[in-house]
Amino acid sequence: LVRLSGVNKWFGELHVLQDIDLEIGRGEVVVVIGPSGSGKSTLCRAINRLEPIDKGEITIDGALLPEEGKELARLRADVGMVFQSFNLFAHKTVLENVSLGPVKVRKKSKGEAESRARELLERVGVASQADKYPAQLSGGQQQRVAIARALAMEPKVMLFDEPTSALDPEMINEVLDVMVGLAKDGMTMVVVTHEMGFARRAANRVVFMDGGRVVETAEPETFFTSPTSDRAKDFLSKIL
Ligand code: ATP
Ligand code: MG
Repeated sequence: LVRLSGVNKWFGELHVLQDIDLEIGRGEVVVVIGPSGSGKSTLCRAINRLEPIDKGEITIDGALLPEEGKELARLRADVGMVFQSFNLFAHKTVLENVSLGPVKVRKKSKGEAESRARELLERVGVASQADKYPAQLSGGQQQRVAIARALAMEPKVMLFDEPTSALDPEMINEVLDVMVGLAKDGMTMVVVTHEMGFARRAANRVVFMDGGRVVETAEPETFFTSPTSDRAKDFLSKIL
């Protein structure tokens, strides 16, 4: 569903993505881990073209990522993204946060978008907060709203960039549980996280990045118990 081939990116002299080849099948859940600065966020941002690449190709469902314009807006709608900081619209209610995108980009009627938004808020467990503003919610609730907002666009793939790293410990699981549910329902997901519990519960593959390269790819159990590269061993010894 998502294919990166020979993807390279530089920030000035810094070669942040180096010859990345990665294929993510429909319904597959890929966890990306690696040290700070290894290029994980840049990889996510490249997949929905928040970050242009210098060399190589990225296709979503067979379609090459367009440079700009209407096509790009449509393609971005196919790729849902959830960030570390929740990025909700502060001056819109929870319901509006989730229903406005589909009206604008997917050309849904307001009524249709709102009833779908309520279903999604129900699914992520925050239906009772629909008429509140983001600042009135806990971090975990806001992040679940952000997930509902991304889902409302009916994306083909969801990207998560450290979705729980800004949350207090007691809120991490409520967000991870929603993500595990999505994975079980067959959503294609790319998840940057150091939450090994999530990787073990939901991931089909772990991709280990270091220095802008994919150093190792393995099933979660294999990766955590017997990583092959020294860099992965070293990294795991620091975080486990
Ligand atoms: P972290 O775990 O800290 O989030 P990461 O693996 O997500 O790290 P990236 O954010 O992708 O790493 O950054 C990769 C490298 O690119 C880092 O060295 C970073 O400083 C650099 N970088 C990121 N964004 C930019 C930018 N807009 N301009 C210049 N350099 C950047
Ligand atoms: Mg990052």
